[in-house]
Amino acid sequence: MPKTNTNILLIYTGGTIGMKLCPESDSLVPFDFSQITEEVPELTRFGYNIEAYSFDPVIDSSDVSISFWQELARIIEKNYTHYDGFVILHGTDTMSYSASALSFMLENLEKPIVFTGSQLPIGMLRTDGKENLISAIEIASAKDASGHPIVPEVVIYFESQLYRGNRTTKFSAENFRAFRSPNAPVLADIGIHIHYHTALIRYPKTWGNPLKVNYQLDPHVAVLKLFPGITEQTITAITHTPGLRGLIIETFGSGNAPTSKTFLNCIKEAIERDIVVLNITQCVTGKVDMDAYATGKALQRLGVINGLDSTTEAATTKLFFLLGQYNDNEIVRQMLSQNIAGEITK
Ligand code: ASP
Repeated sequence: MPKTNTNILLIYTGGTIGMKLCPESDSLVPFDFSQITEEVPELTRFGYNIEAYSFDPVIDSSDVSISFWQELARIIEKNYTHYDGFVILHGTDTMSYSASALSFMLENLEKPIVFTGSQLPIGMLRTDGKENLISAIEIASAKDASGHPIVPEVVIYFESQLYRGNRTTKFSAENFRAFRSPNAPVLADIGIHIHYHTALIRYPKTWGNPLKVNYQLDPHVAVLKLFPGITEQTITAITHTPGLRGLIIETFGSGNAPTSKTFLNCIKEAIERDIVVLNITQCVTGKVDMDAYATGKALQRLGVINGLDSTTEAATTKLFFLLGQYNDNEIVRQMLSQNIAGEITK
């Protein structure tokens, strides 16, 4: 098939998708990604120029770190003008964190960044990896009639679903449908045809703005998951983490927390030390409403910020990003309430 002038960069970071069975050791080993078309010969049928870049070493996504996101953003920035779209092959375990982080780091994004992976290695007969990879490439290359990308966002494609990356969470360690986007609809329905929901996709106000990569991230963030019976020692151990600047409280229901003086004093004392405190819910769907119950109102009065329907993944990486951009925690508090990359419903 003749080559079209569509250029796609496949970035392999690690994870199950890039594995195959090594007959000698009878274990799964990463295969050489520069030979991707040998493993997935179907790719040549696109007629695109698909180039592969592999991290060295590749990593299990449990080892993802801030420096990994910075490296990923650097590769995208370096290759941004040359490629029409990017497909990032990534382990599923922390894919939602990485997609969320990049959605904040890549400002003025006008090209598709499609994360995908698989539950079974691409070298296995029943793999879900081939379909995920092939559809991800199709989405990364899709353009509208005026030549603009149809999905100029950081997204996750997985098992016939296209999600805004910063709305996702890994939901199943077993099923091929590993992800859910509990508080935001899918961006496309994928069956025989791909039906993009363009009214839901975020587009730039004007096209042609240069990509701006925000590399600065501050990891001085902690997540405090509440449970009945939590002790003061546990809470203060977290709120007194050295260097802490941001605290996410995973509360009950619509943003409720214990009304005990002990608990509220811990949070009050943290806020007095200028720690930014964000309230998100442990519920999978729905949002924080701190006006609903006295237990939520008490937090609001202390100056806790409403995280609305944010996932933990989006909340954590948004705080990394905002604390990295601003030294003034008051600005961070104001920005936290804003919808920066489609991560909350306002
Ligand atoms: N442990 C693997 C990872 O996240 C699982 C996967 O790739 O799906 O890297």
